[in-house]
Amino acid sequence: MVSNYDNFLPVEIVSRRDLAPDLWTIRVHPSEPLRFKPGQYATLGVREGVELIERPYSIVSSPLEDEVEFFFELVPGSGLTPKLHRKKVGETLWMSREAGGLFALDEESGRKRHFFAATVTGIAPFISMVRSLALEGRRDHSLWVLHGASRSWELAYCDELEKLTSRSEWFRYIPTISRPHEDSTWKGEVGRVEDVLRKHLDANGLDPATTTAYLCGHPEMIATSRRILERGGFRNDAIRQEVYWVPDEESE
Ligand SMILES: Cc1cc2nc3c(=O)[nH]c(=O)nc-3n(C[C@H](O)[C@H](O)[C@H](O)COP(=O)(O)OP(=O)(O)OC[C@H]3O[C@@H](n4cnc5c(N)ncnc54)[C@H](O)[C@@H]3O)c2cc1C
Repeated sequence: MVSNYDNFLPVEIVSRRDLAPDLWTIRVHPSEPLRFKPGQYATLGVREGVELIERPYSIVSSPLEDEVEFFFELVPGSGLTPKLHRKKVGETLWMSREAGGLFALDEESGRKRHFFAATVTGIAPFISMVRSLALEGRRDHSLWVLHGASRSWELAYCDELEKLTSRSEWFRYIPTISRPHEDSTWKGEVGRVEDVLRKHLDANGLDPATTTAYLCGHPEMIATSRRILERGGFRNDAIRQEVYWVPDEESE
C-alpha cells in the first residue's frame, strides 16, 4: 500500500535533547505553520520504501512558538520509535499538516482550577498548555502539574516547571519518582502518580466543584487515577484523559 504523503510535510529536526537511552525530545521547524490548540497532537512519520510509518504524538510546544517540539519514549523492537530514535539533527521526518485531538484546557465549565497528572512523555500536552498560558500572560486559571517517572532525569521539563513555580502564583509543579533507590540524590516526592494523587488534591483543596482533572500517558495510571478521582466525587465531565497506548492484554 502506498501512503498518502499529501497530508504530510517534510520537517527538519533542528535540535534534539537526550535525557536517557530511551527518552528524548526534538524540535522541528516546519516550512508552513502547524495550526493547533494546546493539548492536541500531530502525526509523525518515517518513510520506509514507499510506506510512511506514522503515529500520533502530543505537541509539547505552544502554538506561539515557531518551532514544534515533541517528547518520545523508545519502545524497543516496535514499529516507529526505533526509527525516530535514529534520526539526528539535520535529518527529516514527516509531520501531518493538521493537528488532531480534543484534549484541551477546560475553558467551558467555569472551573478555574486544573489538576494535571502525567507519566513521563504524558507531560507533553500539559507543557503546551502551561507555556501558552504563561506566554499569553493569562492569570485567570490556576494549574497544578503532577509528573511521575521512575527516576528524576526522566522528568524532562523539571527545570522549566520549577522555575515557573518559583515565580508564579498560578502554577505549581509536583514531580514524583517511583525508584528512589536508583536515584540517591532525589529529595522530592516518592511514589507513582496514582499513589500520591489523592494526597496532593486534598493538600491543595482541589475539589470537584472547582477543579477539572486531566490524566495523560500510561494506560494503567489513567485507569487507577480515574477510579481515585471518581471516588473523590469527580464526575465524567470533570475528568479529561489522553491514553497513549492500549496494553497488550486488552488488545488481544
Ligand atoms: C493522542 C496520542 C498522543 C501520543 N503522544 C505521545 C508522545 O507525546 N510521546 C510518545 O512517546 N508517545 C506518544 N503516543 C504513543 C505513540 O503514538 C506510539 O504509540 C508510541 O510511540 C509507540 O509507537 P511504536 O510504533 O514505536 O510502537 P508500536 O509498534 O505502535 O507498539 C508496540 C507495542 O508497544 C506498546 N506501547 C506503545 N507505546 C508504549 C510505551 N510508551 N510504553 C510501553 N509500551 C508501549 C503498544 O501498545 C504495542 O503493544 C501518543 C499516542 C496517542 C494516541
